[in-house]
Amino acid sequence: MIDFRSDTVTQPTQNMRRAMACAEVGDDVYGDDPSVNRLEAMAAERFGFDSALFTSSGTQANLLALMSHCDRGDEYICGQQAHNYKFEAGGAAVLGSIQPQPLTNQADGSILLSDIEAAIKPDDFHFAKTRLISLENTIGGKVLPQQYLADAQALAFNRRLKIHLDGARIANAAVAQNITISDITQYFDSVSICLSKGLCAPVGSLLLGDEKLIHKARRWRKMLGGGMRQAGVLAAAAQLALDEQVERLSVDHDNAHYLAEQLSQLDEFEVELSEVQTNMVFAKVSDKLVISDIAKQLKDKGILISPGAVLRLVTHADISHDDIQHFISTLKSLL
Ligand SMILES: *Cc1c(COP(=O)(O)O)cnc(C)c1O
Repeated sequence: MIDFRSDTVTQPTQNMRRAMACAEVGDDVYGDDPSVNRLEAMAAERFGFDSALFTSSGTQANLLALMSHCDRGDEYICGQQAHNYKFEAGGAAVLGSIQPQPLTNQADGSILLSDIEAAIKPDDFHFAKTRLISLENTIGGKVLPQQYLADAQALAFNRRLKIHLDGARIANAAVAQNITISDITQYFDSVSICLSKGLCAPVGSLLLGDEKLIHKARRWRKMLGGGMRQAGVLAAAAQLALDEQVERLSVDHDNAHYLAEQLSQLDEFEVELSEVQTNMVFAKVSDKLVISDIAKQLKDKGILISPGAVLRLVTHADISHDDIQHFISTLKSLL
């Protein structure tokens, strides 16, 4: 199958499978898993934080961050399109009693700093207490400019707020700008990173923060059922995700560009090429096309897409340049 639905579908590499088979493990709830301990220490150091916590998913890492920064009755500011607002089952509100204050995302994925300023609540018992700003990078495949991150950090500092980054695809943002991941993490009090997307680990994310925050997050993780035992089997693959898979993302980005160019030459699709910055292509589908039928026919030919008025196609390690050529020629034959 050639699967364009998401980079979450990537299979672990042969090196990962070997490392998992031989991983040194212990009970991580006792703090005894050497592979988890090594991963957390390496990630904290490499990305410039006191501490790191290995989590079962990106959703869990974000929830732990929100619940560790905010108390019951507090508020966090985020984008309307933020994953941790829109696609995480309302966890902050349901489990954290934290009120989201979503704001419009601009076309480039940013939230206007003036909108953030205006949404910060005064210290008055009518209002929830604004505690945290949460940004996302990449967002919808787009990279937030470094200067914007610096300005957002300054705003948070001046208004005595904390600032979190949902960095599920932070490695894509770094590679696209030819900078390091720590060049991005430097602007944040906490960052979540997915290892199971473009980086190919089968399972797992990281939360980065200071010692106090990670200490709190560890308690919440236990409460949420995320205390895993011989998790070193997973951490061994996660380690290779960070050591071996980051630079490779540039291939996915090149492939996304190629895919976008090819699609934009077809009358039935409209692609904004300037918005293809990492591994995602968004293509507006012509009204004349019944895309659900096309998706079914593609599936019979071994190609998976998520049908919609706007197609989101994601490139990743298990899709080659040849696969994209094959997809385009198959698609042409169906149109
Ligand atoms: C995928 C994703 C997450 C959540 O990760 P899961 O591991 O799927 O829970 C969080 N934020 C963003 C931006 C994502 O794309």
